[in-house]
Amino acid sequence: MSDHVNNPNRKAPLERYRNIGISAHIDAGKTTLSERILFYTGMIHKIGETHDGSTTTDWMEQERERGITITSAAVTTNWKQVKNEGISKVFEGENFQLNIIDTPGHVDFTAEVERSLRVLDGAIVVFCGVAGVQPQTETVWRQATKYSVPRMCFVNKMDRTGANFNNVLDDIHNKLGANAAAILIPIGAEDQLRGQIDVVNQKAVIYADNDRLGSTYTIEDIPAELKEEAELAYHELVSRVADVDDELAEKVLMEEPFTPKELKEAIRRATIANKFVPVAGGSAFKNKGVQFLLDAVVDYLPSPVETVPAHAESTLDPEKTFEITATDDAKPMVLAFKLWADKFVGKLVFIRVYSGVLKKGDTVYNPRTRKTERVGRIIQIQADQHTDIDAVYSGDIAAIVGLRNVTTGDTITSPDNDICLEPPTFPETVISMA
Ligand code: GDP
Repeated sequence: MSDHVNNPNRKAPLERYRNIGISAHIDAGKTTLSERILFYTGMIHKIGETHDGSTTTDWMEQERERGITITSAAVTTNWKQVKNEGISKVFEGENFQLNIIDTPGHVDFTAEVERSLRVLDGAIVVFCGVAGVQPQTETVWRQATKYSVPRMCFVNKMDRTGANFNNVLDDIHNKLGANAAAILIPIGAEDQLRGQIDVVNQKAVIYADNDRLGSTYTIEDIPAELKEEAELAYHELVSRVADVDDELAEKVLMEEPFTPKELKEAIRRATIANKFVPVAGGSAFKNKGVQFLLDAVVDYLPSPVETVPAHAESTLDPEKTFEITATDDAKPMVLAFKLWADKFVGKLVFIRVYSGVLKKGDTVYNPRTRKTERVGRIIQIQADQHTDIDAVYSGDIAAIVGLRNVTTGDTITSPDNDICLEPPTFPETVISMA
């Protein structure tokens, strides 16, 4: 029998999936960051990686031509950590599938917010480097805590007047009560933002002087005037992670040496266990900053196999509950988490596959209505296009076209499998027009 590791039909093994959301107080830069992630990952995917410092105008024109849009419930892209001399990564050179799920920033626990949080395996919480923790940040933080979503923070807009990374980090400790520490510290602020300190590797990433986008850079030893700050940050990071990770704690206690990669693995364990929050400072306007953030997403946020299994219950006997683990060798257990009216293809049902495989043409069953119907088309939304795909596998996020009797919150499974991923909810109307 095949499993998710050796299923040859998958584009990437399940361990290399990252289903993430981006949350923020309005205006912190969620849209900009999402667009830059799509542009940057798409650019690398399509035209090969370039660090040659294209000008702002070229960059903006390409962006316009490609018609990038994130006005969708979920988009799929890819990311590969690039080898950088002197900087260790946990998954260097492997291709990752990133699914970015829109997380509505509503102030209360609506069913929609709840559902979008349930389909995430991890989140980036974006802060404005000037404003710090804002009321809506506290709300999204509480919501992510309620659903045990592992998260990292991105302190954005460090190029703006008044931006102060340490103030925001203090806010994250004091107002959000997080066990958080810096992994990337901006070098310089406001119009002097010129790079980042990679705390784990104790290296400086310096953007080239004439490159306003920060895609041309060098990796250097930490400049003398920043050495003390970088060392302090390293000790703070190690101490906060060791506080919650026994393996690292033991090494620290026994004064055994550990490599940057081993430290990263400890950060990964602590973050996935929801005991630690890595914090990166930078600007969504700087490509290199976005690239390092993506490396951190891959390094520290969990794959679908590392998260808590989804819960399900029998619709015939609610006493009977099940844990749904991510594997292809199981009945399909698929959650419809959002309906979307697309002006080209009509009604889209956005789904997350918790287990099993769903193929185009399959007859599927809705345990709430006890009705069956056929899967017409399955599509994946990329930055600038819809791609028809033949099948979706455990961990996948995609959209189905042509399901009539499915609404948000419904489970889609195989005929006569009377098991629901969440108790049936009242039907909602179609939420957005794309
Ligand atoms: P959202 O409401 O969180 O989605 O925020 P947007 O992405 O729409 O950003 C709000 C404003 O901040 C826009 O005018 C952006 O151009 C600007 N912005 C976003 N990121 C940065 C940044 O890193 N630096 C600066 N200076 N402005 C930014």
